[in-house]
Amino acid sequence: AQLDTLDLVVLAVLLLGTVAYFTKGTYWAVQKDPYASSFANGSAGAKAGKSRDILEKMDESGKNCVVFYGSQTGTAEDYATRLAKEGSSRFGLKTMTADLEEYDYENLDKFPEDKVAMFVLATYGEGEPTDNAVEFYEFIGGEDVSFSEKGGAEEKPLSSLRYVAFGLGNNTYEHYNLMVRNVTKYLDRLGANRVGEAGEGDDGAGTMEEDFLAWKEPMWTALAESMNLEEREAVYEPTFEVTEKPDMDSSDDTVYLGEPNKNHLEGHSKGPYNAHNPYIAPIAESKELFNDEKRNCLHMEIDISGSNLSYTTGDHVAVWPTNAGREVDRFLNMINLGDKKDTVIVAKGLDATSKVPFPSPTTYDAVARYHIEICAPVSRQFVASLAQFAPNETIKAEMTRLGGDKEAFAKEVAKKHFNIAQFLEYMSEGKPWDKVPFTIFIESLNKIQPRYYSISSSSLVQKNKISITAVVESVEIPGAAHVVKGVTTNYLLALKQKQHGASNPDPHGLNYAITGPRNKYDGIHVPVHVRHSNFKLPSDPSKPIIMIGPGTGVAPFRGFVQERAQMAKDGETVGKSILFFGCRKSTEDFLYQDEWKEYQSALGENFELVTAFSRETAKKVYVQHRLKERAAEINELLEQKAYFYVCGDAANMAREVNEVLAQIICEQRGVSKQKAEEIVKTMRASNAYQEDVW
Ligand code: FAD
Repeated sequence: AQLDTLDLVVLAVLLLGTVAYFTKGTYWAVQKDPYASSFANGSAGAKAGKSRDILEKMDESGKNCVVFYGSQTGTAEDYATRLAKEGSSRFGLKTMTADLEEYDYENLDKFPEDKVAMFVLATYGEGEPTDNAVEFYEFIGGEDVSFSEKGGAEEKPLSSLRYVAFGLGNNTYEHYNLMVRNVTKYLDRLGANRVGEAGEGDDGAGTMEEDFLAWKEPMWTALAESMNLEEREAVYEPTFEVTEKPDMDSSDDTVYLGEPNKNHLEGHSKGPYNAHNPYIAPIAESKELFNDEKRNCLHMEIDISGSNLSYTTGDHVAVWPTNAGREVDRFLNMINLGDKKDTVIVAKGLDATSKVPFPSPTTYDAVARYHIEICAPVSRQFVASLAQFAPNETIKAEMTRLGGDKEAFAKEVAKKHFNIAQFLEYMSEGKPWDKVPFTIFIESLNKIQPRYYSISSSSLVQKNKISITAVVESVEIPGAAHVVKGVTTNYLLALKQKQHGASNPDPHGLNYAITGPRNKYDGIHVPVHVRHSNFKLPSDPSKPIIMIGPGTGVAPFRGFVQERAQMAKDGETVGKSILFFGCRKSTEDFLYQDEWKEYQSALGENFELVTAFSRETAKKVYVQHRLKERAAEINELLEQKAYFYVCGDAANMAREVNEVLAQIICEQRGVSKQKAEEIVKTMRASNAYQEDVW
């Protein structure tokens, strides 16, 4: 039978893997893949001996399409993987993904004309390349870029390079998607042949997934034409192979039950502790900060003594989460693996270029509990690709419809806040999906990412104890079928309950395995690593500081003020510190209400706390309003070279604070709006304006 266009579209969407789930703060987390390259020794993988020649690598492995990624937290890498899979299943391209930092680019001028390079590039922070893209970016954008063969003299040295590009950005930042914009500019300047438009995804607007889907269809059409590719009926081709090992027992000491790497498995976890190797830290203390029956905010003191981990005030700590037992069970039951959850499995890449995102041998349970984001919102593309494995034709048709219809999906699926297992349960009315290969979940769901917290203590005051201030995510949305329970924060809540004597700590029936693999986290322990940040107090303590930190945005400022109070006690000259804090009600969620008084007594007039309680007056008052009320004083402090800090909500608050500051400067100094904005930009460029937002 002939296929009509609709059929083609349907077939096309059938196989496209993976969820795009946008962790907030995608552009902030520095760590890349927590499992990257080496599980074996818990340190960065041994790269020695690996060829850095991409052309050679493609030749050797018979590839004609390379998808390069510049990724900070793994999202761009996930999109790159999706493109690679789609290219192979729909168009028969021989694809591979490549970490930009693992190759050299001097021979890009010899890129064969019959191949294609794809670039998936995240922009990080203030328009910067991700860590793994720095060298590539500097090379390709360099004034005197020269290639091995044609040198610098050739006018269009990259005329044989065919490429496509997609960027991941956040419109709340000024340099929105600068990476992809600049890289395409440089490549075009060098004569490369771009196929289709460069795409731009916007995490700020929450439309990354739909931006990606909207970009890639015309891109594929253009690429198919440019390369004479024929679209074929997409068939699911696994990237990994999972083999059950009935002869092994999950209690065998070679089986990973959630241990992040070999050191942990062998029970002699040792440093250095980093994004590949967490420290299983004792929680020394934990307490509730809110006075509200419905909401929780945790203060936790994480003990790092003896670990060799260190931090300075303003850094971040990463917490490695565990999925809730309730969701692990739901997931395994829905794919008919509930009875086999402890069966030992070995996972292998079917191709030299595909790496399994967890160590094995392991068990289904360990994979679902520790390694894949099974609680994230389900993605439309993944729904489409699961249709072929539906338990019956009716469900298959429904899956295909929802996967292919953006509006219907938004209304009927996204709005209900389903995770993957809740969605499968809903579609099949609880009947297990026994035809879905487990590999598709490994390939399509994101790897679990550690969650970052702004450290809320001062390293001067407590160098061996890191404190965090975390609001427990429990999101109730009208129309949603489920209350969304944040993975990490509810895990931390369970730990806190245990510390306070609960024999069976179980917030909301989530049933976390808080004692970890083989009870290795028993007592009250949590896996962490530290990430150093640039969010720092002025090196000269006599400089004034202005801090804007509503809600948990106050976290690093507790550390700042704690530090300055200690300095004052030690007899140092400490400049004015003014903190703008906001919350709902002074009686409910006023964080560290009593502590500020202590700091006040140490700092005297040099400390001021300005509060905004949004639900105590008829008209809502936020920190931005308070800032504006203090216009004259703020301007004066800035003229005394005050540092200005903002922490917390990136989407609205931080942007508005930026605007208010420009207004203050404009009014107080009698300069034009444009000039005031320039002054704010200059402050940012010189680090006098710093943000820690998510
Ligand atoms: P997750 O499980 O990651 O869920 C987060 C949100 O995603 C949910 O609230 C919901 O809105 C959405 N979501 C999840 N699942 C679904 C679903 N199935 N359907 C629809 N929506 C869904 N937080 C603090 O409290 N304090 C801090 O000091 C702090 N500092 C930070 C510093 C940095 C640099 C960054 C990047 C983030 C910081 N955060 C901080 C945020 C923190 O990292 C976590 O994002 C936050 O605690 C939520 O984590 P979680 O695992 O509990 O929630």
